[in-house]
Amino acid sequence: MARYTGSVCRLCRREGTKLFLKGDRCYSAKCAISKRPTPPGMHGQARAKKMSEYGMQLREKQKVRRTYGVLETQFRRTFDNADRMKGITGDNLLSLLERRLDNVVYRMGLAATRRQARQLVSHAHFTVNGKKVNIPSYLVKAGDVIEVAESSRSSELFKRLTGENAPMTLLPAWLERAKGTLQGTVAHLPTREEIDTPVEEHLIVELYSK
Ligand code: SF4
Repeated sequence: MARYTGSVCRLCRREGTKLFLKGDRCYSAKCAISKRPTPPGMHGQARAKKMSEYGMQLREKQKVRRTYGVLETQFRRTFDNADRMKGITGDNLLSLLERRLDNVVYRMGLAATRRQARQLVSHAHFTVNGKKVNIPSYLVKAGDVIEVAESSRSSELFKRLTGENAPMTLLPAWLERAKGTLQGTVAHLPTREEIDTPVEEHLIVELYSK
């Protein structure tokens, strides 16, 4: 199945919430959903009014899927894996999504968006424990060291992240990265409390349990 290549702001408007798919722009007055909060399309306003229980479950699943940039079949596979794990399925699902290498690169501030992180990982710009990994869905483990590959460090994209004046994002508690460096560590696996994605995961569990 082809990956979505249309306007990502349209996805936010469809889900009725900010999915933070455009980096800095999402925090500015230019954010599309701040200007036009209704769903896209001719009947967007009408669609915004009515929502069945199934509709709410479906929208929650789409929201999470779009936030992490995962295709339907891959999302379903991730859910099935979460369901087979010990513990709470919804928590496991979010933990598996957070542990994706593209998400970790984004969370560490080494890419502006998850979409950009996925592309950078696919082009083998990162190593995990010293070995190049080009699989965005690769699941990191506690103690893993993620680093910009030596051959990529001279690129302008990464050079601006080094030095004293480098921008730095607020890291979740389960990740570590010193300001101005191109290397980070997975301190521990994320707990539900450490994942700030606004999601009611029980709706997704209900949807797939039908
Ligand atoms: Fe969504 Fe960001 Fe576009 Fe705003 S700017 S609508 S948060 S992708």
